[in-house]
Amino acid sequence: MISSDSVTRMYTPLDEESIRRVPKVLLHDHLDGGVRPETVAELAAEGGYADLPAADPGELAAWFRTAADSGSLERYLETFAHTVGVMQTRSSLARVAAECALDLAGDGVVYAEVRFAPELHVEQGLELTEVIDAVLAGFADGTAQAAALVSAENARRPIRIGVLLTAMRHAARSREIAELAIAYRDRGVVGFDIAGAEAGFPPTRHLDAFEYMRRDNGHFTIHAGEAFGLPSIWEALQWCGADRLGHGVRIVDDITVDDSGTATLGRLAAYVRDVRVPLEMCPSSNVQTGAAASIAEHPIGLLRRLGFRVTVNTDNRLMSDCSMTSEMLSLVEAFGYGWADLRWLTINAMKSAFIPFDERLALINDVIKPAYADMLG
Ligand SMILES: [Zn+2]
Repeated sequence: MISSDSVTRMYTPLDEESIRRVPKVLLHDHLDGGVRPETVAELAAEGGYADLPAADPGELAAWFRTAADSGSLERYLETFAHTVGVMQTRSSLARVAAECALDLAGDGVVYAEVRFAPELHVEQGLELTEVIDAVLAGFADGTAQAAALVSAENARRPIRIGVLLTAMRHAARSREIAELAIAYRDRGVVGFDIAGAEAGFPPTRHLDAFEYMRRDNGHFTIHAGEAFGLPSIWEALQWCGADRLGHGVRIVDDITVDDSGTATLGRLAAYVRDVRVPLEMCPSSNVQTGAAASIAEHPIGLLRRLGFRVTVNTDNRLMSDCSMTSEMLSLVEAFGYGWADLRWLTINAMKSAFIPFDERLALINDVIKPAYADMLG
């Protein structure tokens, strides 16, 4: 379904190809959730990883998509054993990062924050710093390759990537990872995050890591309000001081909508909207883990209507078989969004990035606004 004003003649029609051509901003994407299926198969063969559920890349892609479609965050996360399993050497990490940069650039993403957990990649003896160095080198290589493909004719643009270091919330290395995020802040790392099973592992378990980040003027986001509700969001913001929320979908539990469509916000939801806390929403992933029943019923519709600082993200492109283009297209189809909505979502994301203010502003004014103005006619 497309709203009537988005099919007015002066607008460029909203379809997959036109959405791919506009600049997009991605704040929530996991390196180990976006590996190409062919690469998973090749790295497994090269490295002697024998546990893959299929050897053929097509079958493998289908397996990830189906296995991740579980309705449970815990079972969704089990699929990562196979991507992490083949990302245990410098060369495999660099290759996956380079391909990530190329794939995102090909999808029209101009700025992305990609996250990974260094502690998951030390099974074959790499040091944490070697893991980070390999990923940063891969991103440098991939962004350089993407820049070489830019030409006036092909509507491609350069991509910039900022790295977020993630600590696993069930583990006990978060302070160490936070220290590395600060140590690498001038070498491409722009922030810190915690991820993994949410229920039973509240953000306050990692309070010392977040306090360390704050004392060092660092930025961080926290996965919260995905598989667990308001207490997790409240702790992430009011105890830990998160700059953004990973997902945050359950904030709708603090909003009531009456029969006339009038919404009433509880104190936490009001706080989130008032101080413009960015919500890193990942529609397809949220449907797969059961955080939302369908795209059409995803809280992003209500939250966008109420003016929350909503952003759209991929989360795990392999497990959800998605891209920024496909996520935006699904919102166009579900909610009738037009170019003005997609511009609003994109600018929200750029405003909420962890790179310096002047650099965010330059991307908004020099890259994003002119391209969407062209689409709006
Ligand atoms: Zn995530």
